[in-house]
Amino acid sequence: MNLILDLLFPKKCVGCKKLDTFFCEDCISNILQKNLICPECERLSLGGKTHSVCRKRSGLDGLWSLGWYQGPLKKSIKQFKYQRVSNIAETLSDLLVDYWIKFQPLVFDLIEKNKKKWLVIPVPLHWWRENNRGFNQVSLIGQILSKKLGLDYCEALKRTRYTKSQAALKGQDRHQNIKNAFALSPDCNLSPDACILLIDDVWTTGSTLRECCEVLKKNGAKQVWAITLAR
Ligand SMILES: [Zn+2]
Ligand SMILES: [Zn+2]
Repeated sequence: MNLILDLLFPKKCVGCKKLDTFFCEDCISNILQKNLICPECERLSLGGKTHSVCRKRSGLDGLWSLGWYQGPLKKSIKQFKYQRVSNIAETLSDLLVDYWIKFQPLVFDLIEKNKKKWLVIPVPLHWWRENNRGFNQVSLIGQILSKKLGLDYCEALKRTRYTKSQAALKGQDRHQNIKNAFALSPDCNLSPDACILLIDDVWTTGSTLRECCEVLKKNGAKQVWAITLAR
């Protein structure tokens, strides 16, 4: 089976099309790590932690992104859905964890201290799931990441209504579009001191992640960190 797949879809770097790799060393080294920001005010913040003055009861505790949404990282996120997705997801998740440990390991340290409390939850049904083959790349990243970190994975959030594509909307409209669009899944019990890694592919205005975080915190989550591939 693998042989057939290899013949049909030869391994190619998502950035430069070099053969035999999904993401070549050159392209990986071209991922730009930007300074991390506070998810509330979007100003610089060490480790991506929410500034103490910006903290809100139902707000995010931090934001960590692998890199800037440009170049090979942007290409890989876009191509995710056409190629042998699980391999690209695996490569991106590996990178995420490597970078995490190397640069600003704040969240990583928090998790290591108390693995039992931390749980990986993906943002559900990403808007562009609607126009591809029913594949949710965010869940896949979440699942791989949870395995790698040895944490539980749970699809705890559900969409409660249809929302327009966020990409077509601007700031305030994005917020309105996504308001009250999520709820906790009925078959999920969050423990009262649950700490959550909330996974999405790209942080744009943060409306979706903030909205999901609010639902999780209103249902008892103690800490919620947004983790995205790009920003
Ligand atoms: Zn390349
Ligand atoms: Zn802030």
